[in-house]
Amino acid sequence: MLFDEAASYYEKLEGISSRLEMIDVFTELLKNSSKDEIRELVYMTQGRLAPPFEAVETGIAERYAEAAIGMATGYEQSEVARRYRKRGDMGLAAEELAKATRLRRMEHKKHTINDVYETMRKIAATGGPGSQDTKIKLFAALIASSSPLGARYIARLALGQLRLGLGDATILEALSKMATGERALKPQLEAAYNICSDLGKVADVLSRQGVKGIENLEVTLFNPIRPALAERLPTAEDILERMGGKCAVESKYDGMRVQAHFNKKTKEVRLFSRNLEVVTEMFPDIARALLDEMKGENGILEGEAIAYDEISGTFYPFQETIQRKRKHGVEELSRKLPVVLFAFDLMYCDGESYLKRPYEERRKKLSSMVEKEGLIRPSDMIITSSPKELEMYFTEAIGNGLEGIVAKDLHAPYIAGARKFSWIKMKRSYKSELSDSIDLVIVGYYSGRGQRVEFGFGGLLAAVYNDKRDMFETITRIGTGFTEDQMKEFKRILDRIKAAKKPARVDSLIAPHFWVEPRYVVTVNADEITRSPMHTCGRSRNEKGEETGYALRFPRIISGGIREDKSAEDATTTKEIIEMFGQQKKTKVAD
Ligand code: ATP
Repeated sequence: MLFDEAASYYEKLEGISSRLEMIDVFTELLKNSSKDEIRELVYMTQGRLAPPFEAVETGIAERYAEAAIGMATGYEQSEVARRYRKRGDMGLAAEELAKATRLRRMEHKKHTINDVYETMRKIAATGGPGSQDTKIKLFAALIASSSPLGARYIARLALGQLRLGLGDATILEALSKMATGERALKPQLEAAYNICSDLGKVADVLSRQGVKGIENLEVTLFNPIRPALAERLPTAEDILERMGGKCAVESKYDGMRVQAHFNKKTKEVRLFSRNLEVVTEMFPDIARALLDEMKGENGILEGEAIAYDEISGTFYPFQETIQRKRKHGVEELSRKLPVVLFAFDLMYCDGESYLKRPYEERRKKLSSMVEKEGLIRPSDMIITSSPKELEMYFTEAIGNGLEGIVAKDLHAPYIAGARKFSWIKMKRSYKSELSDSIDLVIVGYYSGRGQRVEFGFGGLLAAVYNDKRDMFETITRIGTGFTEDQMKEFKRILDRIKAAKKPARVDSLIAPHFWVEPRYVVTVNADEITRSPMHTCGRSRNEKGEETGYALRFPRIISGGIREDKSAEDATTTKEIIEMFGQQKKTKVAD
């Protein structure tokens, strides 16, 4: 398919305000693509060049993009910069200048999707001294031979600013429609996606091998698996009842979730964060230990990396562990503040997937692969059928400075990418506060009034994620508790993702001063979840016939700023809010 054709679909998608219509348009685009380009098309539509865990980026900064567009259209860089400032969008600046090019138009080359993709990959692969020059030239040549509309999307792609607003669930639904004409295949596609975390690969396998290929898709080393997530319950009795009377109970460490892949033969190790970003460089000590200490030739295991003082048995707070995020001095830090990986699950070992095996078996195998005193060791665990014992284990965990416990169903498989009752967490905070902290997606912001005028920022409109509808539903406004630095920082970051109108996947009855693409997550505590007619979270009709949703009372941000380890779809879901509301009522009655 020609890139221009994809570009005209992108233009259509930009103008759409309904998610269903979005699915239809994208399905048509998928149908028109061939099996040799569908993988690339899916990545590009997501605004990337590879699955997120490969972190392939063009590395073109804004001023270099301006230089390239200038070179391609015969304008000074300052003129490109002026138009960019005026439009607030490099894509529109490129389109405008491509229309009014001062150069004799190079013959408009008919780029295919793969031509554009390959050039972008080439730009990304160019590194080292003088590489900016080569990047600029490659980018400029692409713009110079594109149509103006093509230039719009090429410029946005190159800067990582495509932002069509299609979430993973929307893409999966469109793939299902492409293959079968309906949505019925979505659960199977989702299962395949949960195993490989790569929508491009799912699309490629589907179009080459059909449904059979999707069913046969298996865990692959160095392809991260989407993490299993825990439900929450407030008491030991509730947990045991739900687990059928008996379960495993593990300490809940408040560190960083790490999914470790290793292959001794090739001496390869890769560590992924909860968000499936590569974090190998943060933990060189753990990477070495995987090759030196582990039994087994290759494997995928999961655990919590946490700064830990062996001598005193002290677990350090989360903030200490994430100090490892720095660029330099990690080795030195690893000597000063050692980290231990408390392994809690095994997904793959010696060429075999363990996903479908019951927890008990996975855990047994895992324990046989690691040393009790090693840098990688099994998480602490008991098996119990007594609420009293569970409660005591919880109290002891809190006493040791841990966050709480995670109970695990002894018979359950590893359920990738889903929040299910096979894992249930109970945290310290459930006993003292509302129930748990809540992760919200920012969907808009307000300009400041009074003293805040100078910051241009007065607060946020925030939403939760409804995974059934694949929509972001508003739940609260957050107007207090910001420091001056935070206000400046929020404005700076949110201005980059401003949307001209309400994004198609946002459901809101309220209009903020500025809409933003649902991308960034903040963690808040609140006093209470209440029913409210203002918000769309879980909105339904009550006995009196009034439509009400759920809202937060007195929300305050506790994550400092944006949570880099969570994407919009990782936010708290509507279903969780409704559950928390129910538990809150129960605790209140109990009080
Ligand atoms: P939270 O903010 O409560 O950690 P979350 O959404 O990041 O929530 P959940 O799946 O709901 O993640 O809760 C389980 C989390 O607890 C895991 O993501 C993991 O990082 C952490 N954890 C710590 N110890 C364990 C353990 N023994 N088993 C499973 N998860 C653990």
